[in-house]
Amino acid sequence: MSQTPLAAPATAAPDTERSHAPAVGAWAQTPPPAAGVFRIRPLPYEATASYLEHLAHAYRLTLPQLLDSTGITVHGHGTTPTAGLALSPAAAQHIASLSRIPMAHLTRALPHLTQSGKPGTEPPTAHWKPLEAEHRPVTACPLCTRHRSQGTTGTARVHRPWHQLVCPRHHQAAPDPRLDTPLRTGTVIELTSARHAHQRLTRHPRGASAWMAARAITTRWYDHQQHLTDRWHHRLHHLALANAHLDHTGNASATLLARDLVIYPETVALARTLATLPHQSRTRSPRDVLGVIAHRLQLANLTPVTGDPLTAYLTHTRP
Ligand SMILES: [Zn+2]
Repeated sequence: MSQTPLAAPATAAPDTERSHAPAVGAWAQTPPPAAGVFRIRPLPYEATASYLEHLAHAYRLTLPQLLDSTGITVHGHGTTPTAGLALSPAAAQHIASLSRIPMAHLTRALPHLTQSGKPGTEPPTAHWKPLEAEHRPVTACPLCTRHRSQGTTGTARVHRPWHQLVCPRHHQAAPDPRLDTPLRTGTVIELTSARHAHQRLTRHPRGASAWMAARAITTRWYDHQQHLTDRWHHRLHHLALANAHLDHTGNASATLLARDLVIYPETVALARTLATLPHQSRTRSPRDVLGVIAHRLQLANLTPVTGDPLTAYLTHTRP
């Protein structure tokens, strides 16, 4: 009962199709891509638009051409990474057929693949939606991307979780969506050990909430130049030496672009401490708790000023 263009015979190679493609303006008459000619695997956490661009590239189509020719109606406008593309369940099924990737696998790999809706009740559509800066996908490690795509591309955008900030194999990280090229981190060895510690934190029942709290605190410290300023300046300097492009990315400063990477080791250390804080707080005075946190951050002491977010956190989380 399938009436989708994907029912087209899978015999014609994409090159052949392209050679018979009509001129621009008559695109609606263009034969659709033959389903399943190419099996394009998504990267873990890949942005939907990034994956569809890879799929389109394999068929030598643009993204709009791919969606149009597979019978998917596009609403809105946008480009990755400032906007995200969400598919209706029916459109996602079309893409699963075309890519020969099982739907369950596709859903697992692409965290924002589908918008709400019931399969079979809505037409295949795709919606562009602008993304807030903190939700934009970042550049994936180009070496991992090239390896996983079997050499077809080195460029991808991913909604990577924080514990995947640094690629452990290639020592690369894109802490900000505005970076088209990740930063090389190999010269800053504490980033690697912080990654290991972060993996352990993810297994802690309070790991996720402690991470969010710690990141809010260290981000404020960084922006207001508190407690760890010298260490962070030093680390930023090392990252800038290894990454000339850090100083030449649009209007954003290196200080801001690298922020999440510069504060990463201390954020992980603070998060691990906060995760075990209820236990610490039962047996120690507030002053001692600050001493424990200072020790974990390798600071001689920690004296929060008025309005320090750590003080607010300790006030609200102490039993
Ligand atoms: Zn990598």
